[in-house]
Amino acid sequence: MAPIPKTMFGVVIPRPGGPEVLEYRTDLPVPSLGEGHILVRNEYIGVNYIDTYFRTGLYKPRSPSSDSNHPSTSSHDTSSPYPLITGKEASGVISASSHPSFPVGARVVYLADATYAQFTLLTSPQIQATLLPACGRISPETACAAHLQGLTALTFIREAAGIRQQLGISEGPWTLVHAAAGGTGSMLVQILVIMGAKIIATAGGKQKCERAKRLGAQWVVDSTLPQEEVIRQVKEITSGRGVDVVFDGVGKATFETVDLEIVARKGMVIVFGNASGPVGPVDLFRLMPKNIKIMRPSMPGYITTPEEKERFTSELFDFLVKGKIRANIHKVYPLKDVAQAHMDLESRKTTGKLLLKVE
Ligand code: NDP
Repeated sequence: MAPIPKTMFGVVIPRPGGPEVLEYRTDLPVPSLGEGHILVRNEYIGVNYIDTYFRTGLYKPRSPSSDSNHPSTSSHDTSSPYPLITGKEASGVISASSHPSFPVGARVVYLADATYAQFTLLTSPQIQATLLPACGRISPETACAAHLQGLTALTFIREAAGIRQQLGISEGPWTLVHAAAGGTGSMLVQILVIMGAKIIATAGGKQKCERAKRLGAQWVVDSTLPQEEVIRQVKEITSGRGVDVVFDGVGKATFETVDLEIVARKGMVIVFGNASGPVGPVDLFRLMPKNIKIMRPSMPGYITTPEEKERFTSELFDFLVKGKIRANIHKVYPLKDVAQAHMDLESRKTTGKLLLKVE
């Protein structure tokens, strides 16, 4: 094993802002190992929409005292969470460990804070990390590309929507997935296919619609059309009934004006993100005419125990190994090009997963 240096490279957010605030640094302190911790030398880092929320300040970072990966050692401002290393997932090799189940040299994929860096400290490895099979059946690149978004799709389908696998093909519920060619959307569509759901995908433009179709959606609707037309097409596809479950990571632009219109009587709208901005306060009376259920889940809330993490990760990896789902990688960027990756993601140019590679 290569010796662990005292300093590392990584990407720091000095203050909230646009992609231009992302600062590549080579002088960050390597976090130190405590009891039960593991230190991972990252190979691939996942770029997720949530990273942009922490960059812009839409989501508030925790204070430095609660985060051992925090780069700040400044004595004059202990209350500010900035500068902040963002990032929520990565894969890599364990460089140091004081946890008996996670030996030095093993490869892991994991969910944690501060992953936009050469090294990341995991303080609860049993919940955060999964050892990759030594046989190499899941590469570190594939694992990282499928992990966070795959677990999101799987837990939201199983836990939030309560969808179970159907015996017959397409006997399942009517579902609609927004931004279906994106990272999380691609995973939702592929896993809904396994469940036997009837899937309507929305995606921005012809190419993205074609991609959603290739992933297994039986119907596609171009979300760049006027919203009345999107609603009309969904109603036509479902013979006026509407869909049982809407999976919406777009948020503000679609929740009120599209989702509440296309959801069926007794249906459910699962809003799980803010790609177009956060959904504002909801008038509960809007739910009354069709007895609609709404949910606003967060994936980590479904894998808070080692048993939950183990169950969903095993199922996800099993789908990958058996070829039932694929990690669709849009592009692998060098870590120092992280600003470009954020710009591409936010400008709706991407399909599938964006990864950063640690050289
Ligand atoms: P995506 O790869 O899906 O990229 C976002 C997509 O959203 C775009 O490609 C675009 O697709 C669509 N979109 C619609 N309106 C806008 C807009 N105004 N600006 C930008 N994009 C827009 O990203 P992710 O898979 O990383 O995330 C998707 C959503 O899922 C996000 O909202 C994210 O926060 C959420 N999420 C939530 C989790 C949770 O635990 N709650 C966990 C993981 C993800 P198109 O052009 O086809 O419309």
